[in-house]
Amino acid sequence: RTRPSTPETLTIMGGGLVGSLLSLYLARHGHAVEVFERRPDIRGTDPVEARSINLALSDRGWRALEGVGIAEAVREVAIAMHGRVMHDVQGNLTMQPYGQAGQSIYSVSRAGLNRRMLDLVEQEPAIKLFFNQQCRRVDLKKQELDMLDTATQQSRLVPYQRLFGVDGAYSAVRGAMQRTDRFNYSQQYLDYGYKELTIAAAPGGEWPIEKHALHIWPRGQYMMIALPNLDGSFNCTLFFPYEGPASFAALQTPAQVREFFTAVFPDAVPLMPELETEFFENPTSSLVTVRCFPWAHQDEVLLLGDAAHAIVPFYGQGMNAGFEDCTVLNELLTRHGHDWTAIFQEFEDSRKPNADAMADLAVYNFEEMRDRVADPRFLLQKKIESQISAQYPHKWLPLYSQVTFSSLPYAEAWANGQAQESIMQRLMPHIQTEADYQRPEVQQLVADEMARRPG
Ligand code: FAD
Repeated sequence: RTRPSTPETLTIMGGGLVGSLLSLYLARHGHAVEVFERRPDIRGTDPVEARSINLALSDRGWRALEGVGIAEAVREVAIAMHGRVMHDVQGNLTMQPYGQAGQSIYSVSRAGLNRRMLDLVEQEPAIKLFFNQQCRRVDLKKQELDMLDTATQQSRLVPYQRLFGVDGAYSAVRGAMQRTDRFNYSQQYLDYGYKELTIAAAPGGEWPIEKHALHIWPRGQYMMIALPNLDGSFNCTLFFPYEGPASFAALQTPAQVREFFTAVFPDAVPLMPELETEFFENPTSSLVTVRCFPWAHQDEVLLLGDAAHAIVPFYGQGMNAGFEDCTVLNELLTRHGHDWTAIFQEFEDSRKPNADAMADLAVYNFEEMRDRVADPRFLLQKKIESQISAQYPHKWLPLYSQVTFSSLPYAEAWANGQAQESIMQRLMPHIQTEADYQRPEVQQLVADEMARRPG
């Protein structure tokens, strides 16, 4: 336990994944915390209604959960995924491990994780949770929140001393900061949307496809992925253009959906009994990258999580990055005690370049997952990279591992990844098969490249 600094009541806007973890960290530093959340308590909601996408939790996220001692409780509802299983158009499978033996990412349901975290938050006497509380406006000058109780439709003004905006990609707290002088803001949508679909459990609650993997159907301009659930089913997400020949706009009838899926995802269709219903009933959601700066307003307001840096989901890092925000903030609270000016400033200065790098990595991985993983030359390159990594472990950690299985700052991982890609551009013209890696001239080229790398 950290020694309490000056205790004060801190206000958190948003009781989502990052908000609930943040409340635990702030309470551990001796502060009283009030969390306002727009939605009703999801623990009271029927699990079927609250069904939601699965998220991939990896090392940065685990580390942040461990920091407040809740990793074990979360592990009980997580499924290890050791690698990607790619499904081609003929239904052939290729497995690509994510890292070294024993390294996995974990599938967790967003609703399940949020429920479990709220249970843990509620056990902390210093934290008060308020549901059905929608922030409509923040008055930064008066330090006052205009809150609507969505259950009673009553509104009231709530003063705050220090406010943490963790209210997601469409943050109301950020909205107020956007109207201050010299606040930079950009949002960028992909031309792709996503739709959630389901692969049903096999009889007896068995998993109809490999349980311990993230499944991908890469198809060039679009793709579908599937993550395992505890009950034997899989949550699928179709990432698909809004417009064009193969797009949401082009699929207007159940017959068109079935015909299209049967042609491009033939091995998945028999496992998706609700395909047509889900396709038309589930919403099509958009994919946005939000960048902004500063994240702090004086020493009174700080943005974290998606409110500060929403990214597209293709590296499975949005939540992990938000959780890592909590790890970083915790270190600063320990170091600076109650010097909030120093804490907020160091937080935004150290975190911003990493959030920007992660946003770029996420878009890069979209192209890789959608397109390049189906290219034999790319798969060969990945195999050669793992040979280099095995031969020169101190000089070469694959980019995916740097992002997923390390706590190296994202900006360093991205810079390393780009340097590695240039090396591969130089090597690959000399390599036609996996065995070519052992040819003396290739070995010499690799040795020369490695000699130039720090390690
Ligand atoms: P949110 O989860 O959005 O929570 C914000 C909370 O604030 C919500 O509870 C909301 O109700 C509340 N709120 C909003 N506005 C108000 C208001 N005005 N007043 C009061 N309360 C308010 N990340 C990963 O790490 N791995 C993955 O595999 C992954 N997959 C993803 C797949 C998809 C399709 C998407 C869209 C995202 C994915 N992410 C993933 C990203 C991840 O979902 C987010 O990064 C994460 O949820 C951010 O947490 P947060 O708490 O900052 O925001």
